[in-house]
Amino acid sequence: MNISVVIPLLNEEESLPELFSWIEKVMTEHQFSYEVIAVDDGSKDDSWKVIQAQSKQNPNIKGIQFQRNYGKSAALQVGFEAAQGDVVITMDADLQDSPDEIPELYKMITVDGYHLVSGWKKKRYDPITKTVPTKLFNAATRYVSGINNLHDFNCGLKAYQKKVVKSIEVYGEMHRYIPVIAKWAGFDKIAEKPVQHQERKYGKTKFGLERFVNGFLDLMSITFVGRYGKRPMHIFGTLGVLSFFFGILILIYLTITKTIFGVVGMTNRPIFYLGILTIIVGAQLFVAGFLGELIARNGADRNHYHISDKTNF
Ligand code: UDP
Ligand code: MG
Repeated sequence: MNISVVIPLLNEEESLPELFSWIEKVMTEHQFSYEVIAVDDGSKDDSWKVIQAQSKQNPNIKGIQFQRNYGKSAALQVGFEAAQGDVVITMDADLQDSPDEIPELYKMITVDGYHLVSGWKKKRYDPITKTVPTKLFNAATRYVSGINNLHDFNCGLKAYQKKVVKSIEVYGEMHRYIPVIAKWAGFDKIAEKPVQHQERKYGKTKFGLERFVNGFLDLMSITFVGRYGKRPMHIFGTLGVLSFFFGILILIYLTITKTIFGVVGMTNRPIFYLGILTIIVGAQLFVAGFLGELIARNGADRNHYHISDKTNF
């Protein structure tokens, strides 16, 4: 199978028929073998009925229904697990992303050999309350992740080699950082394609402003887990030891001034408290690293590595 289109959706009943027939049109025009995996993320409207009806007419349309709303990341993850196509394309259900981009995205993955191609809504049709924070978010993500060639991390329209989606795991609200997660998993041939973006035709956005706070915290945890998840002692231990010895040095200095030079009034000096504080904080950081290490050692996936190939097995 050439292409799997994974579509996470929440209350998008009006958009779905149009979206499905548009995808079908593009796929037949280019003679792709394909499947559409629509993941209904706990819709309260008739989205699931629409999917069921459409899947009767077109066997390429498949549906997965969640019992409740778990979030876009969960829907993507389940779609990724089910996908069988050589190229996996994700797309929002609200018709803001255009299925006409599929052939070019497919080409960039199969011919140009990119692991991941992310859409870039160069010209966006969203309110300014959304576009300005998004610029900041993208700049921060670029800086932290070192993926400097992406303007738009959170575009719903993305294409992947199959092995990429099979080796990454998205949960919580981490769908915003899939390129970062992919890079940590070793898939670093990442490109961007400017894509058409439409105004939302039906329904309304499912994400509010809280996304930016959550998004920032998620970025920190992804970076942290990617870098130190399997060796927490290296960060906590280093900081802890540094802090501890800094404190010790201060207190040695204070001890010398008191015993040898007879300076009095120790507890009136700010560095006295600084010395004590850094010793305590240092010891705590060290213990945190030690505990983290014990937990990492017992984690079920402690020896889980992404293997890209095997021979003679
Ligand atoms: N979505 C979802 N689960 C959620 C929230 C959103 O599956 O909890 C889907 C939604 O139906 C749409 C896509 O994720 O297909 C992007 O959502 P939306 O268009 O509301 O986001 P925006 O374009 O405003 O960033
Ligand atoms: Mg949208």
